[in-house]
Amino acid sequence: MLTGVMNELEATASPGTWRDRPAAQQPAYPDPGALAAVGEDLRSRPPLVFAGEVDSLRSRMAQAARGRAFVLMGGDCAESFDGNTATDIRLKVQTILQMAAVLTYGASMPIVKIGRMAGQYAKPRSADTETRDGLTLPAYRGDSVNGHDFSLQARTPDPARMLEAYLRSGTTLNLIRAFTMGGYADLREVHSWNRGFTDNPAYKRFEAFAEEIDRAMRFMEAAGVDFDALKQVDFYAAHEALLLEYEDAMTRRDSRTGDLYGTSAHLLWVGERTRGADDAHVALLAGVRNPVGVKLGPTAAPEELLALVDRLNPDGEPGRLSVITRMGSGRVRDALAPLVEAVRADGRPVTWITDPMHGNTIISDNGYKTRRFEAIMDEVRGFFEVHRALGTVPGGIHVELTGGDVTEVLGGGERIDEAGLAKRYETLVDPRLNHQQSLEMAFEVAEMLQT
Ligand code: PEP
Ligand code: MN
Repeated sequence: MLTGVMNELEATASPGTWRDRPAAQQPAYPDPGALAAVGEDLRSRPPLVFAGEVDSLRSRMAQAARGRAFVLMGGDCAESFDGNTATDIRLKVQTILQMAAVLTYGASMPIVKIGRMAGQYAKPRSADTETRDGLTLPAYRGDSVNGHDFSLQARTPDPARMLEAYLRSGTTLNLIRAFTMGGYADLREVHSWNRGFTDNPAYKRFEAFAEEIDRAMRFMEAAGVDFDALKQVDFYAAHEALLLEYEDAMTRRDSRTGDLYGTSAHLLWVGERTRGADDAHVALLAGVRNPVGVKLGPTAAPEELLALVDRLNPDGEPGRLSVITRMGSGRVRDALAPLVEAVRADGRPVTWITDPMHGNTIISDNGYKTRRFEAIMDEVRGFFEVHRALGTVPGGIHVELTGGDVTEVLGGGERIDEAGLAKRYETLVDPRLNHQQSLEMAFEVAEMLQT
């Protein structure tokens, strides 16, 4: 990804059209002058990604749509400024690399590695306010908007936080590039971490699979594969393009082609709550060349999806549009097929990705927002079943995960139960798979990809 064409990206005036359209989920900033000043400042700053890298991700997403690659997208529901530490970033990158190694073997295909990182700082919320003990305050909307503490000062949206998010995204991306280009991604090392995982008695059932990978590695070595050449991997960044002013200010014109690029991340997606085909978020993404995603829940109608294809990928460019479905394990087998069939009949390609997290959120009896590992895996299984039945391509997975040993998702090999959630429940918004649960998922998905 560092090898992308280092073309110039010029700061540009607003791409425009989105401003005339309904925009859901935007913060109510008390001082419009301060907001405009931050936008102005951001426009003068360097882009976080380059157009050449964005183009290379688009062609990889196209390969995934054709079954020639598989996408692994993962990271926090909401990144936080406090969690923006070397350790936290390293553990997430390590987890994604470990998952990718297992999936590469299972799929016999390249894995497109994308961190839900380096910019995932803004959150849509189901309510604009939150009430505790009779006090009503604005809802927390992510660290790029307001603070998580329940005080008027913290919860008042502050545009200066967008600048902080930009800077932290830049340092995160810098460290990701350093790790993935500087030797940390060495396949031999990554595989030995995975052997550590399968040594744990709770994950014995994956040992035979890890042993197969072992044999494949020994074969590669004997055949003279240059492992040093495999130390560098491409790793991309993605986030929800929720904050229109931020994404607008990060739009740049590529001097090679004159095209506009969102330069806050390689891939940007629009969420389930802001995906109206005639609304501002879709208009903003329609104006940039990046690969883009749309989240779709179980109520999405085929016509809605086709309207989104018309807006976001009118010419049917391969790799441009990913549809990230989040149906719930109980709905995926019924709700996904009509959407896939409509797209197949339309003919313009999309990359199908499953988000098995957001349709499976529950509240535990002891009050935690959580998910069951078994429900998450069942949605992934349903996603594969639907595509296999229709002869279409399951292109990837999108998951909320972290590299630490948090206790936010129930079940898995460690059998986290409701009481266990209290131990290390640290997420600011949605529950994430911990390191072990993430690897467990990777081994299970790898087995699904093999069959
Ligand atoms: C998310 O990805 O954290 C999210 C809010 O998802 P969705 O838009 O699918 O609800
Ligand atoms: Mn989430």
